[in-house]
Amino acid sequence: MCPDLRPLDGKVAIVTGAGRMRGIGRAIALRLAQDGAAVAVTALARSPVSLPGHEREAGWRGAESVADEIAQDAGRALPLDLDVTQPDQVRSMIEQTRRQFGRIDILVNNAGLALVSGKKNLWEMEDDEWFREIDVNLHGVYHCCKAVAPVLIEQGEGGRIINISSLAGRLGQSQYGGYTPAKFAVIGLTQMLALELAPHRVTVNAICPGSTDTDMMDGTFRRTGERMSLPFDAIKEGVKRFIPLGRQADPAEIAGVVAYLASPLSAYITGQAINVDGGILMR
Ligand code: NAP
Repeated sequence: MCPDLRPLDGKVAIVTGAGRMRGIGRAIALRLAQDGAAVAVTALARSPVSLPGHEREAGWRGAESVADEIAQDAGRALPLDLDVTQPDQVRSMIEQTRRQFGRIDILVNNAGLALVSGKKNLWEMEDDEWFREIDVNLHGVYHCCKAVAPVLIEQGEGGRIINISSLAGRLGQSQYGGYTPAKFAVIGLTQMLALELAPHRVTVNAICPGSTDTDMMDGTFRRTGERMSLPFDAIKEGVKRFIPLGRQADPAEIAGVVAYLASPLSAYITGQAINVDGGILMR
């Protein structure tokens, strides 16, 4: 291989839920772009007032900001509004990505939602909280996989689908609402689709992050603290004691595993759920 060639040169990737400043999606989009891919950076359309305070202070503009970062590093990016629960928006996002970049090779289903984790038992949930968590975390993956699979098959050059599940999708934990069942189901969907797409040389894998330093995880710590009447920092530090490597993951460490699964090095890996959790779960 030419030493200057990057592993994803000429490839086109889509990353969902990639608009948060501290999110795993942003780290994935930046890493895939560094590795040479053109990236459709997709995120929920959000009004500036609804952004977290630290993003407002930084003048953050969601997917637009991530796309700017990629462009500043001489990469190619397309920022797009996308609600993964809306099949029309998903189809439109696929069309716009193909129109802009000519093809699609990699889909990373990163968008996710945790509404009640750390706070409510199952019987304390509102029905709409349950359905919303299932809708985003499971049906969102379904809609995106369903829309991209025919494109990958038609192109006839293989491809990669990478679903971000969770440690919560491998191990039951209390007060995780619809999030845990949806993340378990994402692994089932991953295995099923891996078999269906194997004849087309499309690999389908899941990544199961443990506690990762993002706004989502901070939300879970905050709710747990409220329920237990303990300060946020005490919860955050306490969780680290259960992690053999003694710390949370950095989003870039999840992105590194995505980059590997997107690369030619992983061509013979499919249907797997890979824990990236600092050693919590060893199976
Ligand atoms: P995050 O910053 O909250 O990222 C989740 C992203 O999904 C956000 O950008 C969010 O957008 C987006 N999203 C929510 N609903 C959506 C919808 N209907 N359509 C499109 N996008 C939607 O949290 P994160 O920690 O980076 O999480 C990224 C992924 O990793 C998620 O799938 C999560 O379940 C998984 N994960 C995280 C951890 C962790 O410890 N952080 C552990 C295991 C798994 P808005 O913010 O604009 O609503």
